[in-house]
Amino acid sequence: MHYDVIIVGAGPAGVGIGSLFKQLGMERFTILEKEDVGSTFLKWPKETRLLTPSFPGHGFGLLDLNAVVPSTSPGYAYDTEHLSGEDYADYLQRIADHFELPVERGVSVQEVHKDHDRFFVETSKGTYQSEFVVWAAGEFQYPNNRPFPGAEHCLHTGEVPSWNSVDAGHHVVIGGYESGVDAAYHLIESGKQVTVLSKGEPWSNDDPDPSISLSPFTSERLDKIIDRQELSLVEQAHVIRVEKDENGYLIHLDSGESMKSETQPILATGYKSSLSLILEHFFWEDSGDVRLTESDESTVTEGLFLTGPQVKHVDVIFCFIYKFRQRFAVIAKEIVTRLGLSVQEDVFDEYRKATMYLDDLSCCDNSCQC
Ligand SMILES: Cc1cc2nc3c(=O)[nH]c(=O)nc-3n(C[C@H](O)[C@H](O)[C@H](O)COP(=O)(O)OP(=O)(O)OC[C@H]3O[C@@H](n4cnc5c(N)ncnc54)[C@H](O)[C@@H]3O)c2cc1C
Repeated sequence: MHYDVIIVGAGPAGVGIGSLFKQLGMERFTILEKEDVGSTFLKWPKETRLLTPSFPGHGFGLLDLNAVVPSTSPGYAYDTEHLSGEDYADYLQRIADHFELPVERGVSVQEVHKDHDRFFVETSKGTYQSEFVVWAAGEFQYPNNRPFPGAEHCLHTGEVPSWNSVDAGHHVVIGGYESGVDAAYHLIESGKQVTVLSKGEPWSNDDPDPSISLSPFTSERLDKIIDRQELSLVEQAHVIRVEKDENGYLIHLDSGESMKSETQPILATGYKSSLSLILEHFFWEDSGDVRLTESDESTVTEGLFLTGPQVKHVDVIFCFIYKFRQRFAVIAKEIVTRLGLSVQEDVFDEYRKATMYLDDLSCCDNSCQC
C-alpha cells in the first residue's frame, strides 16, 4: 500500500484537507481513520454544542465559521447556529461522501517511521507507505486524565455521554475553562449542584481571543447560572491530589485545604494530543508547543505536516476550526508543488478568499487577532 500522501484522522482537519486534495485532482492519497468520520463529535456529551456560531454569510464573502470547505454551511444545513456533535459529524460525513474521500475506517495508526524518502505508517491493519504524511488526529481522543495523583478516580468530561445521565447531587468540576463551564451549565440545567475549582479566573479574562478567554457563547451561559445558589465558582484552586475511600472522594488543594465530594469528581483538564504517538518526529518548545516550518511541516522529519488545533505560530493559536482551516491550502500547495503536480491557482484563490487563507505568518505576534 503506497500513496503520495497519507492523512491520519477524518475529523474536520482530515476531511477539510482531504476535500482540498480532491479539488486539486489528487488521487493517490488515503485517509486512515481509527473509527469513523467525525467520531470525536459523536463522543461529545449529548447536550454539548459548538461554541462558534454557524451563519451562512457566503453571498457576502463570509464563510460559515464551522465550514471546512468553501460554499458549505453547517448552520444552513442544520438550521441552527450552534450545532450538536451529532449534527457536525453528519456534516463531515456529507462532505466526505460528496468528494468521495478515500477514508479507510477502523485503521488505527500506531507509529510512523521514515526511511530514506519514504514513510512507513504502522497501523492496526498493517503497514502503509507514502511520500508525505499529514497528521490530523486531533486532541480530543487523548484526554489529559492524569494531571495529578489520584486523577484516575475522576471522570473526564470527554467520557460523559450525557450530562442528564450523571447521578443527581453535588458535583465538583476540576477546571474552569470552556469544558468546565460547559459541564457546570449542563449539570445545573439538569437539576444538580456544582462547585467549579479553577486554577485561574477564566471568567474574568476579557482577552478578545477565544483561544485564551471564554467564548461569548459560554460567557452568556455562565451569566445565566452565575447567581444560582446551585453554583459555586472557586478561583485560584489548584488541585494537587484526589483520594478515594468508602465515604467518597477527598480533593486536596495546594493551599493545604481539602474538600469532600460524594460523587465522582469531574475532570475538565483538557486534552493531551494525538502527537503523543509521534513525539520523536517534532521539535518541542519549552512551552510544550511543537515547532513547525512556515508550511506547517515538522522541523525534525521532512515530509510530515501537522494540521488541526495543535498548530501554533508565535502567538497565534489555531485551535478553532475557523482558524486551522486557514492553513489547509498552505500545506496542500507545498505538497502539490513537491510532488510536481500542477498548482491550480483558481482553487487556491477560492480558499484564499473563503478561509482568509493565512500564508503570511509575519503578522503572528501580539499585534493582531488572526
Ligand atoms: C466540548 C468541545 C467543544 C468545542 N467547540 C468548538 C467550537 O465551537 N468551534 C471549534 O472550532 N472548535 C471547537 N472545539 C474544538 C474542536 O472540536 C477541535 O478543534 C476539532 O475537533 C479538531 O479537529 P481535528 O480534525 O484536528 O481532530 P478531531 O476532531 O479529534 O478528529 C481526529 C480524528 O482522528 C482520528 N484518530 C485519532 N487518532 C487516530 C489514530 N491513531 N489513527 C487513526 N485515526 C485517529 C479520530 O478518530 C478522529 O476522527 C470543541 C472541542 C470540545 C471538546
